[in-house]
Parts: sequence; C-alpha cells; structure tokens
Amino acid sequence: MKPDMRPHFIVGNWKMYTNAAEARQLTKAIVDGVYTMSMGDRASVAVCPPFPYLALVGEILKESRVALGAQNLYPEKEGAFTGEVSPTMLLDLGCRYVILGHSERRHKLGESDSFINQKVRVALAAGLDVILCVGETLGQRKADQTTAVLDRQLIQGLAGVSADTLTHLSIAYEPIWAIGNLGHQATPEQAQEAHSLIRRRFSQIFDEKSAQTLVIQYGGSVKPENASALLSCHGVDGALIGGASLNAGEFLAIVRAGIIEAQKKGRSA
Ligand code: PEP
Repeated sequence: MKPDMRPHFIVGNWKMYTNAAEARQLTKAIVDGVYTMSMGDRASVAVCPPFPYLALVGEILKESRVALGAQNLYPEKEGAFTGEVSPTMLLDLGCRYVILGHSERRHKLGESDSFINQKVRVALAAGLDVILCVGETLGQRKADQTTAVLDRQLIQGLAGVSADTLTHLSIAYEPIWAIGNLGHQATPEQAQEAHSLIRRRFSQIFDEKSAQTLVIQYGGSVKPENASALLSCHGVDGALIGGASLNAGEFLAIVRAGIIEAQKKGRSA
C-alpha cells in the first residue's frame, strides 16, 4: 500500500463519561451524522463507550457505519476475576475494537508494559482489533527520552505478537502532556516526527511492509480547530479523541476533517 493510501481511522474514547440517556443520544447523533458523509474506503469510525453502555450503544450502531470498541479488557477468557471483562464478552457484545495501554491505565492504574502486552496478545488471539496507545510524559519529553519511551512501549507491548495478526493492530500516539485539559497541544510537526519514529521502530520489530500498512492515530486534544492540520500530516492516519468525542457536533467535524484529509492524501499519492 502506498503510504498515503492508508485510510483514516477516527475513534471516540468516552472514558468514564455519559449516563445511559446521554450515551443513547450521543450514539444516535453520531450514527445520523456519519450516515450523511461519503466516506468510501478512505475512513472508518468507531466509538468506545464505558463497559455498562456497550450493549446499549452496540444496539444503536447495528447496520451503521460506526463500529463499537471497548476501553479495556482482562487478558483471560473467563475465571475468578471479580470485576473484570474478558475479550469473549466484548466480542459477544459486538465489539470489534479494544483500546489497550491508554496512558490513564498506565499511569493512574499502574499497568505495566508486560501486562499490556499480555492483553494485546490475548485480544488479538480472540479476534479483536487492538488500538495500542503509546506516549511520553512531559518530563520524559523534556529529558529527551521520547524515543526511548516509545521504543520500550512498542518493543515490550508488541513482544510475541504474531506477524499475521498485524492487520488487526493500530497504534495511537498519545503524548500524555497533550491529553485532556493540561494546556499543551502537540504541533503537527511534533506529531509527525513521533509517528515516523514509531513507524521506523515498528518496521524494525516486524518488517517494512507491515510498517507501511500500519495505521497510526494521533491523540491529545484533537478538536475541530486543529484536526485538519494534524490529519494532513504524512504518517498521521487518524485520531483517538477523548473530550471532543463527547460532543456529537465536534466529533463529527473531526470525522469530516479525517475524510477530507484522507481523500487529499489519496489524490496526491
Ligand atoms: C485520550 O484520552 O485518549 C485523549 C486523546 O483525550 P483528549 O482528546 O481529551 O485529549
């Protein structure tokens, strides 16, 4: 695949927000909005609601062009793991995607690279598509450790992943300092530089062909105002969106930007 022919992948991560009524309303608005867009094969869209609303949201998404994803899983098929959710349960609910290694789980819930790796391997083996999040803290960036951190997260997070499952994997580069309301935003140049670093490392871990087809999303305060600038960058193949994905109008504006920028890249490829 020519580098710029990669479709853009736009995903909403609702984190621990919404109640049932809000989840229903938000999903309906997103489905209706996406229905009016001519996406072709240049873009795909998914939403990742909290666990309790997966069934409700999944019901509304049926027959739509928006896929369902989960925000986490536990790396066992079943068992005495109180409070946890297995990959098979997610598949049963209609999930296609699962976000793993999100910085909030790494840093607030203490998930290690090896635990994330276990999740990645189990999710892929179960048949889920994995969105693996990687990214450095502000301190690590200032200490010039961005490359080392991304290398470690990729090498350890992808250890033992079989090459024939790579079409079911995407990476989300999410610099932690740019997530949420921390007051920082990555420039398109910073995003592009990190993405090319990730792609280079991925090609060393696996091979050049897999690296060229790998979808790498950017995440960190993506809004309608900065979406086009970020998504027009070479090697930025989509967005993982937190805050703005809770507002249907803003999320749909980013989806629209994703489609337009993917079409432009396709034309110039
Ligand atoms: C995220 O947490 O994945 C994220 C990108 O959040 P936000 O868009 O709010 O920065």
